[in-house]
Amino acid sequence: MCGIVGFTGRQQAAPILLNGLSKLEYRGYDSAGIAVRNGEYLAQVVKAKGRLSNLIEKTDEGKALLGTCGIGHTRWATHGVPSNMNSHPHTNESETISIVHNGIIENYASIKECLLEQGYTFQSQTDSEVIVHMLDYYYQGDMMYALKKCVQYLQGSFALCVVCTDYPDCVFVAKKESPMILGKTDTSAFCASDIPAVLDYTKDICALEDGQMAVLKPGSIEVYDFFGDPVST
Ligand code: GLU
Repeated sequence: MCGIVGFTGRQQAAPILLNGLSKLEYRGYDSAGIAVRNGEYLAQVVKAKGRLSNLIEKTDEGKALLGTCGIGHTRWATHGVPSNMNSHPHTNESETISIVHNGIIENYASIKECLLEQGYTFQSQTDSEVIVHMLDYYYQGDMMYALKKCVQYLQGSFALCVVCTDYPDCVFVAKKESPMILGKTDTSAFCASDIPAVLDYTKDICALEDGQMAVLKPGSIEVYDFFGDPVST
């Protein structure tokens, strides 16, 4: 158990992500981290081992991180010790893609082997880090395509959020056997592992089903199946 939050809208993202993560503390965790996107700049990633209050302090309650789109994570380590390095978000080498993941990637070892052969290097001992490098491998300007390819290979459980420099105001999500809800207002969109994380901001909430992906934009959410076909919500 652990937590995930994503936000895109008009307000500063980091305080909203931290508030959302604080509402998920009951789920248990050993470290926390956020990635916030600000226009065309690379995402700013901040991580802290231990209590969420460490991350809150490190970011001046989120005020230190500019940007209106981001993802947050509280980790319950399954692969690799609790540490800053193993905390999420994980980022590709060029720092253009960042991900957070709840769950377990059962076939991460074989994926990692393939990626190592392709020249990818790993910063953490987590199973999750294969996801960001696999997205990088498949990404040729279309993140939904990369995500679709990626989820076809992933075995195990995942609630996954992705931000990418080429999509300044989008959060991409995918879900299988790990909880994920979506929420929306006229100007913003949210995702989270549980409803309390978004209740301060919206009551317009629905569940993302197993085998579904979504693109969150300010004021809109598009849902797709793992084949990339749109699902009406
Ligand atoms: N398996 C991942 C890890 O160990 C994610 C754990 C989680 O769900 O927080 O980093």
